[in-house]
Amino acid sequence: MRQSDLKLDGNAIAGLLREIFTMEMTNAESTCAGCGKVHAVGRVDVYLNAPGVVVRCPACEQVLMRIVRGRGRYWIDLTGTRCLEFKE
Ligand SMILES: [Zn+2]
Repeated sequence: MRQSDLKLDGNAIAGLLREIFTMEMTNAESTCAGCGKVHAVGRVDVYLNAPGVVVRCPACEQVLMRIVRGRGRYWIDLTGTRCLEFKE
């Protein structure tokens, strides 16, 4: 199976994001640090079977987020996200 066959959208990690953030994250907007495009988190590309969860920009495929959960902890890498914007 190719990696692209495993691609889901951001709604696939709505529950995981709800564990981490107190706000509804699928409606948040993420600005890609690579290409500058803005996407709703619910519309980004998600790979659940990478080492942890990998979220990629649908425009340029830059990694926006990496989320790893284990041993009672979360590790969140947001290096590829320039900005996350939430509604109050
Ligand atoms: Zn991008």
